Amino acid sequence: MPPLSADTLIALDRAHVWHPYGPMPGTVTPYVVESASGVRLRLAEPVAGGQRELVDGMSSWWAAIHGYRHPVLDEAVREQLGRMSHVMFGGLTHEPAVRLAARLVEITPEPLRHVFLADSGSVAVEVAMKMCLQYWQSIGRPQKRRLLTWRGGYHGDTFHPMSVCDPDGGMHHLWGGVLPGQLFAPEPPAGFDAPLDPEYASQFEELMERHADELAAVIVEPVVQGAGGMRFHSPAYLRMLRELCDRHGVLLVFDEIATGFGRSGALFAADHAGISPDVMCLGKALTGGYLTLAAALCTSEIADGISRGEMPVLAHGPTFMGNPLACAVANASLDLLLGQDWAVEVKRISSGLSAGLSAASEVPGVRDVRVQGAIGVVQLDHPVDVPAATEAAAREGVWLRPFRDLIYTMPPYVTGDEDVARIAAAVTAAAVAG
Ligand SMILES: *Cc1c(COP(=O)(O)O)cnc(C)c1O
Repeated sequence: MPPLSADTLIALDRAHVWHPYGPMPGTVTPYVVESASGVRLRLAEPVAGGQRELVDGMSSWWAAIHGYRHPVLDEAVREQLGRMSHVMFGGLTHEPAVRLAARLVEITPEPLRHVFLADSGSVAVEVAMKMCLQYWQSIGRPQKRRLLTWRGGYHGDTFHPMSVCDPDGGMHHLWGGVLPGQLFAPEPPAGFDAPLDPEYASQFEELMERHADELAAVIVEPVVQGAGGMRFHSPAYLRMLRELCDRHGVLLVFDEIATGFGRSGALFAADHAGISPDVMCLGKALTGGYLTLAAALCTSEIADGISRGEMPVLAHGPTFMGNPLACAVANASLDLLLGQDWAVEVKRISSGLSAGLSAASEVPGVRDVRVQGAIGVVQLDHPVDVPAATEAAAREGVWLRPFRDLIYTMPPYVTGDEDVARIAAAVTAAAVAG
């Protein structure tokens, strides 16, 4: 088949293809990516200003931490392709999945021992919730089936995860009668270094105490709230959650789908606090951005509880569970990550973003500039003009995808210093334009 011209491709795309949070038919023209290598996306046609290669400031939404076409990851997929791309996981098992699960148990906090491999982050969150609800049901407390979270969160787009996304920033108002009614505490006070606000802690505890009998779990994104608003909070609030959950008999779920694998400056954001949740969700960077794969890990207490129930199994089993290609590349990605001093790379990017974004706070309309780990955020005092901001960044040779009032970046860990500076300059240019 001959390749489609860029014009035909865009026309077909607009007519037939949904994009994330997009209208149908499409109204804006997406860039056509022809290939990608290292930290660069190669486009089918030059953008305004003439650039045809853009440095990826997004890591394809937190995922491509080693960049594109990494020879080690390419080889891992090819090697696995030579054995099998997929086999069902019911009644069968294989080395890539077993190796990955054992590895995840080894590198996550101690009490997490059991791994459910899911095919996307949202499904991992579904499974995490199912584990918690089923645990309480199995041990004879079926009334414990609500979740508590703080505002400003994002946990995915399927229905139960949507029910714990920020009720204002998310799409809750559309789903009033459909979503389960969960409990929301105020957003955690901002600032990684901020001391714990005792007032916040006592309000949170009061809410928890009042509902302890019906609460299955608290679910939060630790340290970094991503798609809900790119806010950072102190690990002290995670220690607070751990303590309150223990005191009131409630499980604690950390959604580390965005923060996992070094992005926040610790291998897992839970490590900043030195505590462990009862359930942890992983995804996004798990395969280095190659294939869709996620995981929900839980403690033996939860697994044993479920096993004592009337239905002693975890009733979930996606068709593509434990996909061998995805597991093989996840194993290779973990080898790459842990085989280097990843923390030094994250710190290097962090410093580069801090230095490069310092001028952005002077831009009119900029409300806040913040950096945590390899994440840089410029928050405006108005909604971003996304097409204008995107184009301004592309003129600087950088791919960014702003949303709401946020222009943000989380570069691949392999991004060189010059490219980090370029990304920061593009974020600033996007803030000027947007
Ligand atoms: C992206 C994300 C999800 C959803 O993952 P998908 O793979 O997009 O379904 C859930 N939680 C957090 C914190 C995320 O960043």
